[in-house]
Amino acid sequence: MQQQTADGGEALEVWIDQDLCTGDGICAQYAPEVFELDIDGLAYVKGTDDELLQAKGATTPVPLPLLTDVVDSARECPGECIHVRRVSDSVEVYGPDAE
Ligand code: SF4
Repeated sequence: MQQQTADGGEALEVWIDQDLCTGDGICAQYAPEVFELDIDGLAYVKGTDDELLQAKGATTPVPLPLLTDVVDSARECPGECIHVRRVSDSVEVYGPDAE
């Protein structure tokens, strides 16, 4: 079954490749609801109850009102390590691996 957002758009999720994160914090400035720096100085995505998801490749849903902020984060990320993909087929739509 295809997951959709309330307005009929496709559901998206985001993850960070911490191996490439420079720790500059741009993402946490753009979208603090989604990204946060941990004490290790690297950025992580947050779960729906605000906890940092530290498992490698952990994803969190992109709330539609924050899509622009999340996409801007992916575009500006100096480490090129923010990946936004479709939930339905895991195809990257914004980020270094997007077509
Ligand atoms: S913008 Fe990219 S490199 Fe900078 S802290 Fe966020 S994930 Fe890391």
